[in-house]
Amino acid sequence: MARTDAIVLGAGTVGTSTALHLVKRGLSVALVDRGGVGEQTSFGNAGIIEGNTIFPPAFPSDIGALMRIALKQASEANYHLSFLPQIAPWLLAFRAASAPARLAETARLIRPLFSHAVAEHEALMAETGATHFLRKTGWLKVYRTEKSFRALRREFDMAAQFGLPLQALDTSGALSLEPSLKPVFPRAVFWPQAASVSNPYGLTRAYAARFAALGGITLNGDARSLHRNGNRWRVDTDEGALDAPEVIVALGPWSRELLQSHGLRLPLAVKRGYHRHFRAQGNAGLSRPVLDGVAGYVITPMEMGLRITSGVEFAPRDAPPSPVQFDRIMPRAHELFPLGERADDRTWMGARPSFPDSRPAIGRAPGLPGLWLAIGHAHWGLTLGPATGRLIAEMMAGDPTFIDPAPFRAERFGG
Ligand SMILES: Cc1cc2nc3c(=O)[nH]c(=O)nc-3n(C[C@H](O)[C@H](O)[C@H](O)COP(=O)(O)OP(=O)(O)OC[C@H]3O[C@@H](n4cnc5c(N)ncnc54)[C@H](O)[C@@H]3O)c2cc1C
Repeated sequence: MARTDAIVLGAGTVGTSTALHLVKRGLSVALVDRGGVGEQTSFGNAGIIEGNTIFPPAFPSDIGALMRIALKQASEANYHLSFLPQIAPWLLAFRAASAPARLAETARLIRPLFSHAVAEHEALMAETGATHFLRKTGWLKVYRTEKSFRALRREFDMAAQFGLPLQALDTSGALSLEPSLKPVFPRAVFWPQAASVSNPYGLTRAYAARFAALGGITLNGDARSLHRNGNRWRVDTDEGALDAPEVIVALGPWSRELLQSHGLRLPLAVKRGYHRHFRAQGNAGLSRPVLDGVAGYVITPMEMGLRITSGVEFAPRDAPPSPVQFDRIMPRAHELFPLGERADDRTWMGARPSFPDSRPAIGRAPGLPGLWLAIGHAHWGLTLGPATGRLIAEMMAGDPTFIDPAPFRAERFGG
């Protein structure tokens, strides 16, 4: 049996960033995963470090959009019919959190954390030699109808309140940024302060390498073996049992079951999502991620090719992939950009771990001394990994925190 100061369960982008922050503070830390570092949800995201996020994704308020989703004609969302009874309570809570006043409240509560997202990544990238992954070229969102553009008015007002710069563009303004796009949209918005990375998996691996260089150990083990051993926690690993007084749960979409087995029930659901890679025709290319507004997919340049990521799918986490959204996305993507052949031979699937109020849970696990939560990062796990790690590390040390962690307490769910 070995002992460390802290065990981090889950080596996704959130757990790895947290482990790195802890080891930087001189703690002995073990990072435990049943698979390889960064190979699950953190592997295949759109690579956007979205420090500009204002409103989280919302339940559709427009009956037309809702009908398109219900009739499975929407590219932005899909669902498994048989899953609806199971996910219904979560969806109702999500709809309640999507009321305009609640969205505005969420925007205010999450802003301090998001405002540090890019800087926290840059700090870790600088010391891990990973700066080559970073593009500080912003994010371009294109809108094919005036109506969809007008719907952004509240977001623009909020951006002004927060002092977040944006540029509302017409077609030619957008094409001057991304000349390969086809002029199928009248409106666009450029968010210059968003950043992106060319390989999210490579980035997590770079953070893990730095963790190891600073003395952190990475072990294979199943988090479900977690149990109390006196006043410590114990996890079984391939190298034997490991004890620590503090354990950080960063199991992404697998967190709910583990916590439930220790008596903590949290409303964590998954929004599944997919990606495929393509080549560009001729010399076409992109310098930054591009969102096709209402259609809800992103085309983002990656080392592996142009990655197209889908919107959300409500289905059991472990159900076989059903990437039907690509049937709806691809005609639109071909309209928008001169895509060439597929650059991969499989469709990747991940599951965004999501709370109905779209805020992660960062901090102590209620009623479970020594257990900490770094879960529920939904659409923003890459964005918020390093900021989350720093926050956890500061809280564990009892130091002043760089932002107020109160909005992220799991106690907000009651019970
Ligand atoms: C299509 C798509 C696009 C996205 N685009 C973006 C984006 O552009 N920007 C952004 O910020 N976010 C994006 N996201 C969201 C982001 O990818 C996630 O929020 C993030 O990856 C979650 O990271 P995590 O570390 O919490 O979970 P994970 O990366 O899933 O890590 C959890 C780890 O826990 C391990 N684990 C699970 N069970 C056990 C067990 N029993 N024992 C041991 N280990 C276990 C897993 O092996 C895994 O390594 C996107 C997501 C998707 C699906």
